[in-house]
Amino acid sequence: MQLSPEDEQFRRRVRQWLARNLTGRFAALRGAGGPGREHEAHAERLAWNRELAAAGWTCLGWPPGHGGRGATLAQQVIFHEEYARADAPTRVGYLGEELLGPTLIAFGTPEQQRRFLPAIKAVDELWCQGYSEPGAGSDLAAVATTAALDGDQWVITGQKVWTSLAHVTDWCFMLARTEPGSRRGAGLSYLLVPMRQSGVTVRPIRQLTGTAEFNEVFFDGARTRRDLVVGEAGDGWRVAMATLGFERGVATLGQQIGFERELGRLVAEARRTGAAADPVLRGKLARAWIGLEAMRAHALRTLAADPDSADPDGPAAAAGASVIKLLWSRWHQQLGELAMEVAGAPSMVARGAPYDLDDWQRLFLFSRADTIYGGSDEIQRNIIATRALGLPRQGRP
Ligand SMILES: Cc1cc2nc3c(=O)[nH]c(=O)nc-3n(C[C@H](O)[C@H](O)[C@H](O)COP(=O)(O)OP(=O)(O)OC[C@H]3O[C@@H](n4cnc5c(N)ncnc54)[C@H](O)[C@@H]3O)c2cc1C
Repeated sequence: MQLSPEDEQFRRRVRQWLARNLTGRFAALRGAGGPGREHEAHAERLAWNRELAAAGWTCLGWPPGHGGRGATLAQQVIFHEEYARADAPTRVGYLGEELLGPTLIAFGTPEQQRRFLPAIKAVDELWCQGYSEPGAGSDLAAVATTAALDGDQWVITGQKVWTSLAHVTDWCFMLARTEPGSRRGAGLSYLLVPMRQSGVTVRPIRQLTGTAEFNEVFFDGARTRRDLVVGEAGDGWRVAMATLGFERGVATLGQQIGFERELGRLVAEARRTGAAADPVLRGKLARAWIGLEAMRAHALRTLAADPDSADPDGPAAAAGASVIKLLWSRWHQQLGELAMEVAGAPSMVARGAPYDLDDWQRLFLFSRADTIYGGSDEIQRNIIATRALGLPRQGRP
């Protein structure tokens, strides 16, 4: 990626701001909140995110008309690079900023945009994603949660599951069946629902890491306003797919730069323990580095593709986000496995009772989820098979 003098200046501004501000009460947050450590210092990280927002460092890629900076892809990458280099803490407003915000910009009404985008940008309201249900995960079109109109409100009944961060969020963007008797993707609507109301019950689910990043969420007569449907009522499938596209696309750039930081730490750890002298581990560390470079180059090439020159609707573009998702999920899982090998036998034992894991153990365990959420590896391969290779769709049992 070619960097212009303006980009270099942008980099200096980001770096200076982080150096000046990730200090004092925020200094202790360095490195907080990575995979499997989302419980760490939530309130402090929220305060830090609001500090970022006040200085204009959230929602960089949003158009200026919607409160963003209209930052180029290069500048977004630079921001994430500097953020990772400064060891700044994992952001808490990710789902609003990277998933719902772009969806509202594309499909929301002007009133919805005015109501919600400023609060996402300021990190005043946090969002969760209510797609998956006990009977609808990979097969998302099987959503059974219903919403029915009662005057000027939707009344929602059903259950969502694996809902990340639902226990700390204010709102949920969700898929619900609003046309009784409808099947599959037809008759679904994309609703914005307040979480803090008596009809919503959130139950944390304890994960392999010992922490509870996700939850079961029960909607029992929960309510939201009639006009809080994004896109047309009944057309929620199209909107939901657009959100998934954002989730698998640009939003992964910041994450990949976080991976670079993890690999850097692992290399340092391997040097410290002497594991770096082992020829097999050296080879694996080198391969991890090569994998990271290849993955990043691929992501940048795909995301920077000029919509006017290439074939933006062609098969490669349609499957591009799936290729990125497949590459990073496997890479990250293998990094977790490599971290265990670098640590050797002690990696199999918790540091203390009852279940006190170190960062590498948490990374290893949490990264098992990488090939599941955001669409499992098998689902990404199905997308590549049908959209890029033109193979026939699988029969449904
Ligand atoms: C850490 C984590 C966080 C999550 N956060 C959220 C969230 O915030 N909001 C949300 O809505 N959801 C969230 N999810 C849920 C996630 O999207 C689902 O787990 C995922 O879509 C898979 O659905 P499932 O768990 O029902 O598994 P299933 O769909 O039952 O799949 C089980 C297995 O069968 C395979 N399989 C299923 N169908 C096919 C097929 N057609 N062809 C080949 N193989 C197939 C799958 O790949 C998988 O290996 C999260 C999940 C995890 C692990």
